[in-house]
Amino acid sequence: MSYLSFEEIVTGVRNLATEYGAFCDLVTLPNTSVEARDVLALALGDTRGPEVRTVVYVGGVHAREWIPPDALLYFAADLLEARRAGTGLSWGDARISAEELGRIFGTLQLVILPCANPDGRIYSQEVDPDWRKNRARNVRPDGGVCHGVDINRNFDVAWDFRRTFAPDAVSASDDPCNKYLYVGPEAASEPETANIVWLLDHFTGTGWYLDIHSAVPAIYHNWGLDELQSDAPGMNFLNPAHDGQRGIAGDTLYREFIEPADATEMARLSRLMAEEIRKVRGDEYEVSASFSLYATSGASDDYAYSRHRADTGKAKVLGFTMECGHAFQPEFAEAEEVMREVSAALARFAADVSSVAPV
Ligand SMILES: [Zn+2]
Repeated sequence: MSYLSFEEIVTGVRNLATEYGAFCDLVTLPNTSVEARDVLALALGDTRGPEVRTVVYVGGVHAREWIPPDALLYFAADLLEARRAGTGLSWGDARISAEELGRIFGTLQLVILPCANPDGRIYSQEVDPDWRKNRARNVRPDGGVCHGVDINRNFDVAWDFRRTFAPDAVSASDDPCNKYLYVGPEAASEPETANIVWLLDHFTGTGWYLDIHSAVPAIYHNWGLDELQSDAPGMNFLNPAHDGQRGIAGDTLYREFIEPADATEMARLSRLMAEEIRKVRGDEYEVSASFSLYATSGASDDYAYSRHRADTGKAKVLGFTMECGHAFQPEFAEAEEVMREVSAALARFAADVSSVAPV
């Protein structure tokens, strides 16, 4: 066994959609990648459709993080096989009963996008293992070309970091040749970003968004913009009065507003996942708001949660980023252990929210 190529991921997704057509649909995202590759997802559930209560799981945003796409494909395959057989699933001492699995499929839709950044995946596996971004062609003013936009700095939430953040406070770059953190020419400029936006637009029943990365290990929840506060609703990413103040750790000049009930629920679900991961082989994942890693602009988890605050006509989506494992590309035997941790956590998450989701 070894890491899947992008071609193998595509084949795997298509085969699952064919084999388990009673329990899942193939979702072809509207935008092909920069290099014109199809981007495919699966929608799992006994009942599927835009308005069904949905959890969105995304992997492969960062190309060099090889585990998440494989983990999500095997997660989908395990769930579908168990649903058809009417059994439960286990990973070490972490378990989902047959009854819980039935409830997940009966009350929820799980939209799983294993590899959001196909071009990056291929470039990382074939050319530069350290490649993180997509493969956009950035033409500099002097005519030179550099490649790649960091998809996870390209979303439309405080994207314009030079205006919105304090100087040097955020992990982002507007240099088209920055190897890791280039934010792109405008918010949501990249087709890979637009596809994730489309998932949230199309699946209007989405209540939870989980972006699977590596490797800290940790489970983060909103916000990544700044530390949290629940006293001053006006102190938020939409308020230009606070431009230039965001992203500084340890100050009280600016902190990002979060509704107390949301903060409590996000922390509860994050801890639930960390507890489930511990049952697999005893690994300890840190749980905190994303900002504890470093300040981020334009990240997908914050974008998912920001949509409702920017437009109350849009559903509220709680955002999470899992940073699985301890290395980007460990030996595959270790990668398989990490995949078991990811599956256990994501299954427990779904089982938990399925008990509160309206049928
Ligand atoms: Zn990442």
